[in-house]
Order: sequence, then C-alpha cells, then structure tokens
Amino acid sequence: MQNIHDECAACTRCKLCQTRKHVVPGSGSPTAQVVFIGEGPGAQEDAKGLPFVGASGKFLDEMLGSIGLKRDDVFIANVVKCRPPNNRDPEKEEILACMPFLQRQIKVIAPKIIVTLGRFSMQLFLPDAKISQIHGKVQKVGEFVILPLFHPAAALFNGSMRGVLKDDFLVLGKLLSGEMNLD
Ligand code: SF4
Repeated sequence: MQNIHDECAACTRCKLCQTRKHVVPGSGSPTAQVVFIGEGPGAQEDAKGLPFVGASGKFLDEMLGSIGLKRDDVFIANVVKCRPPNNRDPEKEEILACMPFLQRQIKVIAPKIIVTLGRFSMQLFLPDAKISQIHGKVQKVGEFVILPLFHPAAALFNGSMRGVLKDDFLVLGKLLSGEMNLD
C-alpha cells in the first residue's frame, strides 16, 4: 500500500497534479473488511492530505460510530486522489487516469464490501444505475459486493438526507454482523 501511496504522491498522470497541495491517496486499515470510496478531495483534504476531514468527514465518523466502527477499522479512498479546483466534478479523463490506483488499493485490501459514496464512485461499478433508485441496496458486481450510498456531503445541504444516509448505513452494519447475507 505504501508503494501505491508513494506513486500517487509523485503522479502527474492528469492535470489535477498542477493545482493540488497534497495528494490524498486514502487512509485506514490495509486489511479492512470495508472500503469506502468518495468522489475527490475538497479544500481541507487537499490541505491535510487525508480524506474526509471536513464536515462530511465528521458525519461519516458519526455514521461509522452508529454501527460500532472507527476509521481505523475501514479504508477510505476517493475516485480521484487530487482535488479538482473549486470542488468541480472530476472529469472523465481524470477519473480514468486515476482509476489504476484505486484498483490496486482494492486488490491489496480485498475487502468484503465496497461502499460507494455518491454518484461518481457508484458509476465506477454501476455505470447505468441511478443512485436515487439503488442507494442502500446491496449490488453484486462480478466479484464485488457493492453498497451504494449518497455522499455524506449531501446531508450537509439537505437535512432530510441525513436520515436516509443513517438508515442506509444500518444495512452495512447488518452485512458485517451477518444479519444480512452477502450473497
Ligand atoms: Fe495522478 Fe490521480 Fe492525482 Fe490525477 S488525480 S494527478 S491521476 S493521483
């Protein structure tokens, strides 16, 4: 994992390298059962080189806590490892350029469950899906078990989304406890 992160730090595969302060490869346990994939670093993540350190990160921590998990128990990554300027959406070429890093991280970790946070990470596995229709519903994609969730940032702008995300998170708790089957 360290090799992957070192390569990210030196990466110039797309133009996001020109504006980043820090690359944000991801953080957490390299043997985690669950990998979370967000969209891309924001300003605070870019400043610190860590994923989900702002307000959405706080909400993510709260939801992890609701099912008895801490950050160190999981691995958190993003679709793109460098901040898109002004928090714009990552472009297709940037996503494609960065994807090999995420693919290698997933291979090293070999998680039981991949939780996608938001539309961009969901589309890596389910390109034609609509998040409004499949959030909180377990999807099998090849060898992967995917749980698509809304991005925690959505809850910061839309209070009703908080409850939706919290409910969907309980599905993850059930999958991990065996209350819900992974097959
Ligand atoms: Fe490299 Fe990914 Fe950063 Fe682009 S976003 S420069 S591909 S690490």
